[in-house]
Amino acid sequence: MPELTTEDAPASTGTSPCPPFEVLLYYLYFPIEDPEDYVEEHRALCEKLELRGRILVAREGINGTLSGRTEDTQRYREWMQAQPASSAITFKADPADGHAFRKLAIKARREIVTLGLPSEEDLDPNETTGRYLSPQEFYDAMQDPDAVILDARNDYESELGKFRNAICPEVANFREFPQWIRQHRDLLEGKRILTYCTGGIRCEKFSGFLVNEGFDNVSQLEGGIVTYGRDPAVQGKDFEGSCYVFDERISVPVNHVNPSVIAHCQHCGTPSERYRNCAYAPCNAQFFCCPACEESFGKFCRTSCRDQAAEISSPDGGGQ
Ligand SMILES: [Zn+2]
Ligand SMILES: [Zn+2]
Repeated sequence: MPELTTEDAPASTGTSPCPPFEVLLYYLYFPIEDPEDYVEEHRALCEKLELRGRILVAREGINGTLSGRTEDTQRYREWMQAQPASSAITFKADPADGHAFRKLAIKARREIVTLGLPSEEDLDPNETTGRYLSPQEFYDAMQDPDAVILDARNDYESELGKFRNAICPEVANFREFPQWIRQHRDLLEGKRILTYCTGGIRCEKFSGFLVNEGFDNVSQLEGGIVTYGRDPAVQGKDFEGSCYVFDERISVPVNHVNPSVIAHCQHCGTPSERYRNCAYAPCNAQFFCCPACEESFGKFCRTSCRDQAAEISSPDGGGQ
């Protein structure tokens, strides 16, 4: 599980009339000849605009999430769309009251999402990928009894939220998917496969991988859960829980029609989407914890963590 650096996620600010900040989520698969060069150019631009967040650059494209003042994120968007090579990029933007990241990190990598296929099996989503479905088309396809809805995210993401009836593989990392698929072909054989992820980028490659594995009816949710939640027609219908995001917000709402909570307090099992990091520093695991259990148990994910923390602090009578 990724480590969190915040104690509490800020409240949703989706209804703020004039958001001073924006959080952007975006990607584009397009050829970048020299990723290192591109990184340097991008760093200069983002620093000038005082943007924060994470950007990955590879020969296959760019994958980013940034926060900044709206006037600055606007200039960033315009700059990206003005470059002929990246003019096709689309941005998902959420209003915010402040930065969603503490700093800026821009890195060159081999892939912009790491499926980790050997190079002879690697694929270009511009050539091989699943059929794109709009939110409405995806909703309609989910009603098909022959459809299998397949979550292309990690297990700790689907614990917070997922589409109703989706298969959520128990994988902690995207690069475990190829092996998982090869071990679970029977679940997918002869079915209409519908894949989804947060913003669409993982499905581009994942659905292409499924096509290359011989599945002939593979579709993906274009723009991911984030776009599905914002679509004026479907409004997130039949998405259970919330969407995990990799910034300080941790979770964003999706379903505005029939919302529910599927996450549970790790201690007592009551529905709760309240994230905490285990206060025993060597553990630091992210877990769900209801207010009552935090009050009685402390901010620990399990008894052994609480006991070990008590041992450390007992000589000078610390603890809470
Ligand atoms: Zn509880
Ligand atoms: Zn712990």
